[in-house]
Amino acid sequence: MSQVVVVDKPTNFIRNIIDKDLSQQLHNTIKTRFPPEPNGYLHIGHAKSICLNFGLAEDYDGKCNLRFDDTNPTKEDIEFVGSIKKDISWLGFGWAGESNFSSNYFAKFYAYAIELIEKGLAFVDFSSADEIKQLRGNLTESGKNSPYRDTSVEENLEHFKKMSSGEYKEGQCVLRAKINMSSSFMCMRDPAMYRIKFAHHHQTGDDWCIYPMYDFAHCLSDAIENITHSLCTLEFQDNRRLYDWLLEHIDEFNKPNRPHQYEFSRLNLAYTVMSKRKLQQLVEDDLVSGWDDPRMPTISGMRRRGYTPRSIRNFAERIGISKVDSMTEMSVLEASVRDDLNLIAPRTMAVIEPIKVIIENYMNAGVEKIQAPKHSQDETMGKREIHFSSELYIDKADFIETAPNKKWKRLAIGKEVRLRNSYVIKAERFDIDKNNEITTIYCSYDLATLGKNPSDGRRVNGVIHFVEATTAVNAQFNLYDRLFNIENPIKAENFAEVINPDSLVVKNGFVEPSMQNAVAEQAYQFEREGYFCRDNKSKELVFNKTIALRDTWSK
Ligand code: ATP
Ligand code: MG
Repeated sequence: MSQVVVVDKPTNFIRNIIDKDLSQQLHNTIKTRFPPEPNGYLHIGHAKSICLNFGLAEDYDGKCNLRFDDTNPTKEDIEFVGSIKKDISWLGFGWAGESNFSSNYFAKFYAYAIELIEKGLAFVDFSSADEIKQLRGNLTESGKNSPYRDTSVEENLEHFKKMSSGEYKEGQCVLRAKINMSSSFMCMRDPAMYRIKFAHHHQTGDDWCIYPMYDFAHCLSDAIENITHSLCTLEFQDNRRLYDWLLEHIDEFNKPNRPHQYEFSRLNLAYTVMSKRKLQQLVEDDLVSGWDDPRMPTISGMRRRGYTPRSIRNFAERIGISKVDSMTEMSVLEASVRDDLNLIAPRTMAVIEPIKVIIENYMNAGVEKIQAPKHSQDETMGKREIHFSSELYIDKADFIETAPNKKWKRLAIGKEVRLRNSYVIKAERFDIDKNNEITTIYCSYDLATLGKNPSDGRRVNGVIHFVEATTAVNAQFNLYDRLFNIENPIKAENFAEVINPDSLVVKNGFVEPSMQNAVAEQAYQFEREGYFCRDNKSKELVFNKTIALRDTWSK
């Protein structure tokens, strides 16, 4: 028996159930599944489910299947199948064997439907959708039986075959399970199992004109694949009754080690939306540049933004698994990526809003080379070469004519600051243009301060970043912030009105020459500015801001 005891992960109610099932030898090993509908790109909520399902399989030495839940041919697209696989692999997970499709099992589903009809447990209903709705009742009122409920088995078999061979029109009839019209669970009031749809399917082409309902297909797919623990979000809690009923009424699956469904609470994140339908709307309304816009909570958008797989997996670990519905603060996600990037991102300098600095007492000809560490706490990352000369760029925000108070740690006339990894400079005077904008700052530098404090004991408080001007490389910076300016945008009537207008600010500035060949998606820390990564779609040197160095939101 391959039971693995996991000690380093916090336990949760699902792990407790698995531990019990394994110790009672209900199963020898576990098999979970991740069942996305290929109707959109995966988002951070899916990542929670992926980390849970694939993570459990890893920890318990079991397996996790990837199954595309493709029972809704009109809404699905093969494009999404590829993107979903790519995203799961990028997160570092692998599924057992080939990926599966619910549609692989259409022939089996059909046979199970026949079994139910033969047992007198399903019937073809010719009532209109409205009539069915009328008779369903509601939470306080019991439903009423359909006039077609007592059709004979033979007739039902006949009708169902005709449904599947295209002899009835779309909407003319549905196959319903015969359960209990007065159940307190609405999903048990003779739920529909099959509907007619003359739709082309991306996997099965025109083979079928009837398609199974989600509730029917899902539990049967789990059972066909020998899934042990079928994990889904809380909104399917009631549907568990139907899940169990169906498996208990199909002979092949009515056994103790059949799959069981367990529900956990879904991820809700403040300041964003997660439903694929809503994300699609953002794309269609051109409010973002696509599913992989770095502001999107999609895996592909987060990858482009500079999130690492580990930061997402750590986030899933931090939020844990429970049955309590809650709203997770964006700062929890942001802290996960910040913590990861702090460890792995090489340091470098970029000037995002450049202003020219001339060092007037710099007497050397040409450019001086300085070795700077790639990471001040991790020597193993090695060094990079930076440059210094009489012409530099610093950031506009790092200079003011007159320091407002003694706490000012940046440059001001008559004040000294250290240029990061380099010398101490002092601002002497500046030029302005006709709009009163500062164009050039003239400074002096202290030759004796490279890597040392001034020898006469003067204290220099501030450190600012810079790049040498003649070797600096042009770069574009996409400064991202949260997409929405309200905590719960799902409630907004019009997304355009609640989009944060500063969610993308584009700037043109300079980076060190060592950044010329920056690798796409590789994280860097632009010192004092934040974590950035090179955009994976632009040929030019474009850097996307992943996250600021510190949390500026929760203040
Ligand atoms: P959406 O509403 O975003 O379209 P969905 O549930 O329709 O999501 P599916 O493709 O059917 O999307 O989901 C695949 C799996 O991911 C399901 O098991 C579902 O429960 C899970 N999942 C989807 N959204 C979340 C979320 N926000 N938190 C946790 N799990 C989620
Ligand atoms: Mg769905």
